[in-house]
Amino acid sequence: MTRATYRFRDYEISTDPSSPLPAHSAVCVTGEDSDCGAATSEEHATEDAVAEWIAEHSRDTGHDLYRKAITEYVRSVPGAWR
Ligand SMILES: [Zn+2]
Repeated sequence: MTRATYRFRDYEISTDPSSPLPAHSAVCVTGEDSDCGAATSEEHATEDAVAEWIAEHSRDTGHDLYRKAITEYVRSVPGAWR
């Protein structure tokens, strides 16, 4: 039997300053048997543009359930051992 001891290390995780701004997106998941599936495109990558797209899609379809996401690049910097 092999016995292993693991050491743990703290990592600081923060937004990478050289990467593009966080990208916002949303997809309509309204539907009983299957989701509607309508989704924002890359031109709607800001929070305001996503909110506007959702409002317009709701107005046009009556759909009311969405999955929103924010995608960003982060850096993991190793810190002290514990
Ligand atoms: Zn929809």
